[in-house]
Amino acid sequence: MLETAAGKTTQGISRRTRMQLSFASRAVRIFACATLALVALTATSSAGGPSASRFDALPKPGERLAQPIWLPHCQMRIVEWRSTVVLRAETAPSDPALAVLDDTCRDAFERYGTFLQSRHLPRTHAAPESMPAISLLPGNTLIDGKAPRALNDMPSRFESVAPGCCYWGLYVDSLNHLFLRNDPLLRTASGELVANPRFVRTLTHEISHVLSARLGVWEALGYDRQRDEDLAEAFVEYMGMHFPAESSAEDLAYHRGHVPARPRPELVSDVTLPRPAAHAGEGSASTSPQR
Ligand SMILES: [Zn+2]
Repeated sequence: MLETAAGKTTQGISRRTRMQLSFASRAVRIFACATLALVALTATSSAGGPSASRFDALPKPGERLAQPIWLPHCQMRIVEWRSTVVLRAETAPSDPALAVLDDTCRDAFERYGTFLQSRHLPRTHAAPESMPAISLLPGNTLIDGKAPRALNDMPSRFESVAPGCCYWGLYVDSLNHLFLRNDPLLRTASGELVANPRFVRTLTHEISHVLSARLGVWEALGYDRQRDEDLAEAFVEYMGMHFPAESSAEDLAYHRGHVPARPRPELVSDVTLPRPAAHAGEGSASTSPQR
């Protein structure tokens, strides 16, 4: 299934060249978020020091792309993209990288309704009324994933939303924002850039968090963090990805070509993931934990 997904992505690259990137609409929402972030940054605690706020997780105006990138099948806009210097081609914005994102959305969105039906889950909306903005950030904690403004920048930017370290994705519904690892592409031993199956896994997992929330599943059932997490993992399986989330060390080995790009079949039975620590509060994130 994954092989199929990668093949579709390759096809999508040429289709991507025809894809129109729209930069104009939804600016109001983006500016509103930026304004909220500024307000949060200037807030102070009763002791006089800066107070951590979930709005600190949002990109500051200077961190945002000059031109947001619209992903038609995702119905979402990339507003921030930070690359990893030592993996520049794999982690920089490019047509092939954008095709991986958009094709993953296309495949996931096509099947999410049927997936919910298969699990007899209710929904209160036929379609999402709005979708979050996306930040792509370094996620590998052995390279730059803990650096300032990286995905696991826990001491400062994500302190108030992330349950702990370390993650490949964070979806914060109350911020209307999805934070993702920055490596849609992987370089094979022959030097070819291909869709990164582990990025596709992470995005598929996060899409379940986004769509279950925006289609009103939790509105109907009442929110349960563990149930949300289990549903996201079940959707990954439903989409044919039978390999577990990887550690930063494993990710580094994949990127350095020390192991085959394609997930190994023997990993199929190993689907146990560490559970994120319980974290109350409306600002908390739905996460994709690293292993
Ligand atoms: Zn999750």
